[in-house]
Amino acid sequence: MLGALLPDIIDKPLGHLILPQNNGRIFAHTILFALIVFTIGLLWQKAMPLAYGVITHHLLDNMYLDPVSSLWPLMGPFESSDFSYMTWLDHLVRPIGFLGEVAGLALIAWWSLGYLRRRPRTSKTIYN
Ligand SMILES: [Zn+2]
Repeated sequence: MLGALLPDIIDKPLGHLILPQNNGRIFAHTILFALIVFTIGLLWQKAMPLAYGVITHHLLDNMYLDPVSSLWPLMGPFESSDFSYMTWLDHLVRPIGFLGEVAGLALIAWWSLGYLRRRPRTSKTIYN
């Protein structure tokens, strides 16, 4: 779940409150960031669910439709946006925006349940 939220946790405050672009899809929404997290997951298996979450976030955010951000820095600097919080709220209540959020939640629940089923159980032996 942290991986699925991580790009927005990093980029929303950074892009809307600190940097001048007013763009909430910057560094953590790039393929470069996903590759870094995925590489960490390859080296340290416990971090792989984080990478799955980040990649899922990118897919559900339709980052493939925004090559300037997703391929950064290959296509130049991040673009400015005319984002406003009212636009974001409007997106959440529209069925197509809401369905993306529900699909993401369903994927996270499915992966989490699969992980819990595969997780090795520790058994405690009681000696009398
Ligand atoms: Zn995002």
